[in-house]
Amino acid sequence: MSVDDSSSATERKSAINQRHEQTANEVLPEHRGLYIGGEWVQSASGETFETRDPTTGDTLASVQAGVAADIDRAVDAAWAAYDDVYSDYSTAERQAMLSEMADRVEAKKEAFANLESLDNGKPITEARIDISLVVDHFRYFAGVARAHEGETVETDDSRTVQTYNEPYGVVGQIIPWNFPLLMAAWKLGPALAAGNAVVIKPAEETPLSLLKLMEEVDDVVPDGVVNVVTGFGEDAGAPLSSHPDIRKLAFTGSTVVGSEVMQSAAEHITDVTLELGGKSPLIVFPDADLEKAVQTTITAIFFNTGECCCAGSRLFVHEDIEEEFLDRLADAAEELELNDPLLESTDLGPKVTEEQVENTMSYIETARESDARFLTGGDQPDDAALADGCFVTPTLINEIDHNNEAVQEEIFGPVQEVFTWSEYDEMMELANDVDYGLAAGVLTENVTNAHRAARDLEAGNIWVNTYNDFPAGQPFGGYKKSGIGRETAQEAVDHYTQTKTVNFSL
Ligand code: NAP
Ligand code: MG
Repeated sequence: MSVDDSSSATERKSAINQRHEQTANEVLPEHRGLYIGGEWVQSASGETFETRDPTTGDTLASVQAGVAADIDRAVDAAWAAYDDVYSDYSTAERQAMLSEMADRVEAKKEAFANLESLDNGKPITEARIDISLVVDHFRYFAGVARAHEGETVETDDSRTVQTYNEPYGVVGQIIPWNFPLLMAAWKLGPALAAGNAVVIKPAEETPLSLLKLMEEVDDVVPDGVVNVVTGFGEDAGAPLSSHPDIRKLAFTGSTVVGSEVMQSAAEHITDVTLELGGKSPLIVFPDADLEKAVQTTITAIFFNTGECCCAGSRLFVHEDIEEEFLDRLADAAEELELNDPLLESTDLGPKVTEEQVENTMSYIETARESDARFLTGGDQPDDAALADGCFVTPTLINEIDHNNEAVQEEIFGPVQEVFTWSEYDEMMELANDVDYGLAAGVLTENVTNAHRAARDLEAGNIWVNTYNDFPAGQPFGGYKKSGIGRETAQEAVDHYTQTKTVNFSL
C-alpha cells in the first residue's frame, strides 16, 4: 500500500470524512420514497431503514422499507401503465425513451459515479466504468427495440405462418448490491425495449442510485412503467417473486436466494431468469506474456474489490512459470492502494458492509486453519485512517486443498486461491470441479491452447487474454448453478417476450 504517509492518520481520516460528507450533500437523491405510479410515496409499513457509507460507517440516507402491500400497489400501477399507455408505445417510442434515459444518466455521470462509490464503496475510477456501461446498455437496448422482429415461417402453399414477440406485460426484477445501477440497467434495458412495465427492487445495501435514476428520468418514463420498491429481501423481494400478477421474474444475486426465487416463481408458473454466483477459474499457460498476465490476473480478482460475480477467484498457473509469476503477482497485489474510494489513486475500496467483511474473514480463517500458505494479505489493513471502514487486504492463498470450502464456495471479496498445474487434463478437471459455471479466463499466446481451453471450460463467459470486459451485445450468463438465461445482448430481449404464432390457412 502506498498512501501518502506525510500526513497523520488522524488528518487523513478527517479528510476522508469531510470529503464524504461534502460529496453526499452534492449527489444524494432528493427523494427517498418508493417510486410507484410516477409518485414518491411512503411504505405501507410506516418503516424506513438506513443505508450506510462503508468507508466512514456513517448513515447516508434513510429509505422506505417496502412490504407486500407496496409490491401489490406497484404491480397494480405497472399493469395500469401497461394497459393504458405502454402497450401502445411503438418500437420507435420505446427506442426514443431508452435513448433519452441514456442521455439523462450521461449528463449526470460524475454524480452517479460518486453516489455509487459512496453507497457501495467501489473506487471512483471503477464507478465511472459502471456508469458508462449503464449509458451504453440503455443505448444498446434502445437500438434492439427497433430490431427485434418476428418471423415468417416457410412451410408450403397451404398456409402462412407468422410469429410475434409480445411483451409479458408486467415483470419483476431483483437487484444485488455489487453493481447497483449497472445490474438494474442490464434488466431495465431489455424489459423496456421488449415493451414491458417493471417492478424493481434494489438491494437493501445500495438503494440510492436507482432512486436517483428515477428522479432523473421521471419525465421520460410514463408514470407506472418503472416502479421502484426499496426494502429487504424477505419483506419486499419475496412478495415480488411470488406475486400472481408478475409474468416474468429476473433475479441477480446469490445462488441460495436464486433457488428460493425460482421456487416461488414455480407456484404461478412464472418465467424466471437467474444471474447467480461464481467461482471462476483463471488459467495461465507457460507461454503467457507474463507481464500482461499478471495485470490481467490483478483485474480478474481485485476489480470491484473482488465483489464481482465473475471474479477469477481460482488461479491455475503452469509449474514452469510458477515461481516468477507468483512473485510478480504478489508484488503487484502489494502495490495496490487500499484507500478512500473517492480518491483517484485508490485501487480497492471497502467491502459493502461489516457483515460482508465478516463473511470474507471467515473464509480466510478456514483457509488458515487448513495450513494454507498466504502469499500476501489475509487481514484487515493496519491503517487508523481506514479503521471505520469495511476494508480487507488483497489476499492470495496458496497450498490449499481444492475441496476446501474456501475454494469451493464464493467468497465475494478480494481473495484468490492459487494452484499449480502440469498436466492439462488434470488441471481442466479441477478448473471445472465446482458447482458454478459463470466465467473463466485463459492467458496464453498460443491460439490452439486458447481454443482448446475455451471449449473445455464449463462456463458461460470465457475471456482470453482479458477479463471482466462487458461490452453491450456480448451475452452474459452462467452454466450450472450460476444461472439461467443471458443478459446484455439481444438474447436478453427474448427472455422478456413470449412468442405468438399465427397460422393463416390459404
Ligand atoms: P443476495 O443476498 O442473493 O440478494 C440479491 C437480492 O435478492 C437483493 O435485492 C436481496 O434483498 C434480495 N433477496 C434476498 N432474499 C430474498 C428473498 N427471499 N426473496 C426475494 N429476494 C430476496 O445477493 P447479494 O449479496 O445482494 O449479491 C451478491 C451475489 O450476487 C453474489 O452471489 C454474486 O455472485 C451475485 N451476482 C451475480 C451476478 C451475475 O450476473 N451472475 C451479478 C452480480 C452479482 P436485500 O439484500 O435487499 O435484502
Ligand atoms: Mg449502503
